[in-house]
Amino acid sequence: MPTEDIIGKDDSHFFDLDISEQLKINDQKILNENTLISSEEENFIKSTGELTTFHTVKKSLVSDDGKIVGMCGISTDITKQKKLENLVKEQNKLLDAVLNNVDAYIYMKDEQRHFRYVNDKTAKMFGKPVEKIIGKLDADVIGHELADHFWKSDKQVFETNEKQVFEEIAHDDDGKIQHYLSTKMPYQLDENSQVLIGFSTDVTELYQLKEEFKKQANTDALTGLYNRRYFFNHAEKEFSRAKRHGLNMGVISIDIDFFKNINDKYGHPVGDKVLIEISKNILLSIRQEDILARVGGEEFAVILPESTLEEAKKVAQRISITENTFLMNAQNKEYVDIKLSIGLVSKRIEDESFDELFIRADNALYQAKKQGRNRVYIA
Ligand code: GH3
Ligand code: MG
Ligand code: MG
Repeated sequence: MPTEDIIGKDDSHFFDLDISEQLKINDQKILNENTLISSEEENFIKSTGELTTFHTVKKSLVSDDGKIVGMCGISTDITKQKKLENLVKEQNKLLDAVLNNVDAYIYMKDEQRHFRYVNDKTAKMFGKPVEKIIGKLDADVIGHELADHFWKSDKQVFETNEKQVFEEIAHDDDGKIQHYLSTKMPYQLDENSQVLIGFSTDVTELYQLKEEFKKQANTDALTGLYNRRYFFNHAEKEFSRAKRHGLNMGVISIDIDFFKNINDKYGHPVGDKVLIEISKNILLSIRQEDILARVGGEEFAVILPESTLEEAKKVAQRISITENTFLMNAQNKEYVDIKLSIGLVSKRIEDESFDELFIRADNALYQAKKQGRNRVYIA
């Protein structure tokens, strides 16, 4: 629009004054008080039909005798900038909604160990509001011990500059161990700041389930002792260690005498109870370092690490003389004494595998049976 078309006209020619509220307020003020206003105005431009945002500085014009005679102003069109700002605001709002509702602890830390970002879930875990965490040193937020613990894995991300996955441990308020699966990735925040972004999920329940499955896989369901599978795995490892370091190692093989009679006379469930009680008794006769397993129906075996034949013999004899007396029938006060046959061997220099040792232990057990049962046979 040429200048001559503008001069002499009032605002209503250019702006829709019904909508351009701030313009009216500002102008009123400037014309009533001798002042200067710097503000944002949203003005509706009639000719284009556009709503524009200006950054406006307006000042009263005052005559020599102090009267306000007009105003002058400079307005800069910041519509585009404003639109961008609003877009960024909206996107931040969306990002916050996502980051604060995802079921993970999300955080950003710099190389100087300051938190640069935490989502609500992380702040809640730390027990502090977000604004008391961002910009603060990790140790000031979560204490030295925990901060140093997490820093061990954080450091690896900065050193390798590569994404890493860690299993991390922390204690909750009640002192219980919590397990976290944490993915941490390096990120160049700006020219001067290398940070890491971490995503941690609480996998405590999964971890406990995994441990429970592992335990079940190694445990005999009836007696709670180690099972055959665990026994042979462990025995192989123990044998290799003994061979490598020239250590002693004993093996005891145990079989309950005439157990079939118990089942036949009193029934399988009673037989089960007897197996459980005998297991407990054998467990009490062995030492802390010995490994007892149920390797068959009514068969057990013990590994005695770093034990001489003499030491192993003492354990075998303790097992053998333990009283296994059970009340089978409460009415007629019928007690049954159950006896064990035991084979004992110790590792020889020429043994190449645990199997050789175990076969000898089984042969010794066979000899104990053959010689009349209820005894220890040492091979
Ligand atoms: P021996 O003195 O020669 O060892 O005689 P035994 O009767 O103990 O040996 P045998 O091998 O003839 O029988 C073992 C019995 O153990 C047979 C089986 O029914 C019983 N048995 C194996 N596993 C279980 C179990 O889990 N529960 C019960 N109740 N009995 C079992
Ligand atoms: Mg048997
Ligand atoms: Mg038997």
